[in-house]
Amino acid sequence: MNAIEIVFSIYSMIAIALALAIFKKINADNKRIAKRMLKGVKQLERVEHGKWIKTSKNLSACSSCGNCILSEYTEDYFFCPNCGADMR
Ligand SMILES: [Zn+2]
Repeated sequence: MNAIEIVFSIYSMIAIALALAIFKKINADNKRIAKRMLKGVKQLERVEHGKWIKTSKNLSACSSCGNCILSEYTEDYFFCPNCGADMR
């Protein structure tokens, strides 16, 4: 093995080590991003459930946020128009 071959093999090892380090870093970043996205999806899936509570002669309030609508419309609203709670 001459000097050029030795230098070349050392550079090759350094290049491989660098490539591995970069791959590991990208992999860790991707895992972190995937985890964050999954957390966001889970938050979106968590749907609040509520029901219309008659508060006066004409008004009903959402049990989740307190938003009031006219009682005659409670049958038409499957979701609270204010907070999005599922009223079914
Ligand atoms: Zn509501």
